[in-house]
Amino acid sequence: MELAIVQTGNPVLRAVAREVLEDEIKTERIQRLIEDMKDTMRAAPGVGLAAPQIGESIQLVVIEDDACQVKTRLSAEELDMRERKPVPFHVLINPKCEPVGSQRVVFFEGCLSVAGFVAMTPRYRKVLVTALNEHAEPVSIEATGWYARIIQHELDHLNGTLYIDRMDSQTFSTVANKERFWA
Ligand code: ZN
Repeated sequence: MELAIVQTGNPVLRAVAREVLEDEIKTERIQRLIEDMKDTMRAAPGVGLAAPQIGESIQLVVIEDDACQVKTRLSAEELDMRERKPVPFHVLINPKCEPVGSQRVVFFEGCLSVAGFVAMTPRYRKVLVTALNEHAEPVSIEATGWYARIIQHELDHLNGTLYIDRMDSQTFSTVANKERFWA
């Protein structure tokens, strides 16, 4: 079932989300929430969604990126520049993330909770994340490029941070103007 995505200004996007208890992960409520968040992310469409964005202040995110040229409206070269490759659907619960190295990369980034806008936003190129998956099993992921950007963006949501807190504000733009003036 598709859920409503809350927009910036809603305090739930600025709260620190609570951890999900291990026993809680297998409950019908959380399993249903994961399915609903998957539906919501795909319908948006988006490549990640954090629970606070659907009004649940818990540490749970879903991620999926098919890195499709048609859907992203990016050329093969542009996808390469962003190191953007397909990432299958997966769930991160109670994630902890640290940068690997100090290299940062800057690209336009948007958010389903700041609908209609984008801005150039620096992110670490590579990160290491540890979390639980939807079966309450520990996972450890080293992510590079666009996938690392998605992880940093979604995990920020769990701490009440939005990309607009990290962006180069001079580049803040409507999606239409980004395509008109920055293509
Ligand atoms: Zn977002």
